[in-house]
Amino acid sequence: MTASIPSTSPAHSSEISAALLGWYDRYARDLPWRAAPGSPAADPYRVWLSEVMLQQTTVAAVKPYFEKFIARWPDVEALAAAPEADVMAAWAGLGYYSRARNLVRCAGEVAAMGGFPASEAELRKLPGLGAYTAAAVAAIAFGQRAVVVDANVERVVSRLFAIAQPLPGSRKRIGAYAETITPEKRAGDFAQGMMDLGSGICTPRDPKCLLCPLSAHCAARSEGNPVAYPVKAPKKPKPLRQGTAYWIERGSAVWLVTREGRGMLGGMRSLPDDGWAASGDGSGDPPLTGEWAPAGMVRHTFTHFTLELSVRRFRGEVAEAPIGGEWWPLERLGDAGLPSLFAKAARLAQA
Ligand code: SF4
Repeated sequence: MTASIPSTSPAHSSEISAALLGWYDRYARDLPWRAAPGSPAADPYRVWLSEVMLQQTTVAAVKPYFEKFIARWPDVEALAAAPEADVMAAWAGLGYYSRARNLVRCAGEVAAMGGFPASEAELRKLPGLGAYTAAAVAAIAFGQRAVVVDANVERVVSRLFAIAQPLPGSRKRIGAYAETITPEKRAGDFAQGMMDLGSGICTPRDPKCLLCPLSAHCAARSEGNPVAYPVKAPKKPKPLRQGTAYWIERGSAVWLVTREGRGMLGGMRSLPDDGWAASGDGSGDPPLTGEWAPAGMVRHTFTHFTLELSVRRFRGEVAEAPIGGEWWPLERLGDAGLPSLFAKAARLAQA
């Protein structure tokens, strides 16, 4: 950490960590990837899988996917041996699909190494493990003292220390403060306790300071307006992209393609489209010449832009299949693993 501004004393820091751990011992959420507070650490495979799934995704959305993955691929060796297409299809609906591709690559590397490395630095070298995930796995699965800062922890720390600098510029500062209160022992429980506190007590709009184990130490509460933190820089509006997806039906099947490996939604099945992901303006040609009827519009927000996707249905008889795809039975469309955007488009086309 380079932003070493914190002014907490060691005694103050240990009071904060002790209060948080005491609270976690009583109120920890029961989650399928967790070990109970104070008990031996959870299986690194489960911790890693859950943390990858939880990136940008809520606990409620992750739970059924986690259960499904664990039932189908109970350990890292099983996941490493799975065909990528199966993993991508099982991931469909969770979003941020590069995570699924990295999941398969990472499982392969870990299986070849004979297991997960225990240190944060070694974990960081694995595909898809950024600073946050590496720290979380090191702390939660291996009990290492690592500083784990997700969005919940960011909020709690910003409030505890009334950090006036706006996000995202304040991240280093927040990390430096988080480091001062991370204990030498039980760093994994401490990290999970901070996450639980941010999720259930120190919530974005309605922090329940009367129930908070850290209220006596909280600068934002003393100031009287905790929701003023974290301070955020004004958001720039997301650019708008436009594109078209095509619905081509023949008999009781629809034409699906598999997307280019490394591009957006790469490796996933989808409806054919006009190449909006690459060109940004949807200037590509339809996959068949003939008459197309509009079926509606899907609006979908990605991390860096919003997409308006027009859906068009082919009206004529399909004499010859387009190039590079497959006829997929309509009655099994739910098994195709379409990402949410194209699942919405398919519903529209069938309405
Ligand atoms: S006292 Fe209130 S604002 Fe401060 S950490 Fe607790 S819940 Fe958040």
